[in-house]
Amino acid sequence: MEKIENYIGGKFQPPESGNYIENFEPATGSVYSEIADSDERDVEKAVTAAKSAFASWSDLTDCERTEYLNKIAQGIKNRAEEFVAAESKDNGKPEPLARRVDIPRAENNFRFFASAITHFSSEFHETIPSIYNYTLRQPRGVVGAISPWNLPIYLLSWKIAPALAAGNTVVAKPSELSPYTAKLLSEVCIEIGLPDGVLNIVHGYGNKAGEAIVKHPDVSTITFTGGTVTGRKINEIVAPMFKKASLEMGGKNPTLIFDDCDYEKTLAGSVHAAFSNQGEICLCGSRIFVQTGIYESFVTDYVERVKKLKVGDPLEEDTNIGALISEDHRDKIEMYVELAKDEGGEILCGGKRPEKINYRCEDGYFYEPTVITGLDHNCRVNQEEIFGPVVTIIPFETESEVLEWANGTQYGLAGSIWTENVSRAHRVASKLQSGIIWVNCWMVRDLRVPFGGMKNSGVGREGGWEALRFFTEPKNVTLVIDEENK
Ligand code: NAD
Repeated sequence: MEKIENYIGGKFQPPESGNYIENFEPATGSVYSEIADSDERDVEKAVTAAKSAFASWSDLTDCERTEYLNKIAQGIKNRAEEFVAAESKDNGKPEPLARRVDIPRAENNFRFFASAITHFSSEFHETIPSIYNYTLRQPRGVVGAISPWNLPIYLLSWKIAPALAAGNTVVAKPSELSPYTAKLLSEVCIEIGLPDGVLNIVHGYGNKAGEAIVKHPDVSTITFTGGTVTGRKINEIVAPMFKKASLEMGGKNPTLIFDDCDYEKTLAGSVHAAFSNQGEICLCGSRIFVQTGIYESFVTDYVERVKKLKVGDPLEEDTNIGALISEDHRDKIEMYVELAKDEGGEILCGGKRPEKINYRCEDGYFYEPTVITGLDHNCRVNQEEIFGPVVTIIPFETESEVLEWANGTQYGLAGSIWTENVSRAHRVASKLQSGIIWVNCWMVRDLRVPFGGMKNSGVGREGGWEALRFFTEPKNVTLVIDEENK
């Protein structure tokens, strides 16, 4: 059985415990590799390696670091098909999706920050003509990067690339449920000659390896993406230690559909927003609010479209919905569908496991895309994050009513607005409590814009300058210029 080991100090190393965790292929339900079950001893080694690499890495010029990052990007590109197959096998997502989205994005994360750092500048303020202020932006040291399973290499590289570009060294921990592409990334780093210790990848459980990174006194900065409950735990540890932390957490994103939308575009867009990646994207629109003028016909047409989505083997080209990440996660989704029934919901389609996929996938963790109506916006199913192929549709009458309901959760990550009325689009966008808003589209990404949530969905923002500011320490220098001949 293949063993996925830690990448520490430039080479692969077994975990100190000698223990490994089983790694499942979600589409077949079988174990196909084993992951290092790391603990604080492995984290100690990784932090030591990252600390000793820091001085020389941060001393490089931006252009020199850019070269390394571009080489990593090219290394991913050269092995793209291997990354695609690994991501699909490890996560259960359709291969075509990994080929179109995950892997090109991981490559672009490195290319983008390789370029961005060479354009990054800091502030200069002239207080009066004889007093100058300039602000240095210095790397913060060792960064701990912790990421989830839904977009494994896409999100891990979204943290590693800006942290390295800004001159920090990194100890990263991918999710224990989807570690394989992080192993491939380690191989790429070795192939391109990234200096030892600049990037270290420690595998294992969150409450063991993850927490050891968060608690380590020499890790000054934590960048985390995952669930809100985990984010809160991490915050409780880092706040008294005064670490700088960026927390990207859960969501319960609203899709607001007005009578005056472009009907066909909205149908296609809202199905895409709900069920991409099996609904396992933090940005997926899982609460669909539809104005009463089009509600009846919209629900009928929506369900008809959803029924056409093919739940299937992630290896097949025409599969729309692959396997869920784990058996536990499918159990959680089934629990929520049962809860929806208890809360008075009507299941219009889905609500069960598919009859058959194929022989290879008969023990995989599949679930049919599910549409539910008849639920109050306040019920648990409409308040708690399900993170799977399950949506609810809720009718509304007025703009103020839908804004109150859309904003009425603990979350505030993303939302989409579907209307042809320009004033309405701007008005609603300004009042929606979400860090990311799309109008007549969903998940259209520009890597320069601030990315992240408000309320219990996030603290801080990723992307563009926000990321480079986060990974640097501003230090202001004030200079008073003496008068001539003084
Ligand atoms: P999770 O919180 O269970 O785990 C995320 C990561 O944290 C994993 O690597 C895990 O091992 C680690 N971890 C767990 N407990 C830890 C602890 N005590 N200390 C340190 N690390 C710990 O989340 P998940 O199930 O992997 O991912 C799904 C969640 O991620 C969803 O809530 C989803 O909305 C969220 N998510 C958010 C974004 C965003 O950008 N806001 C993006 C993707 C996913």
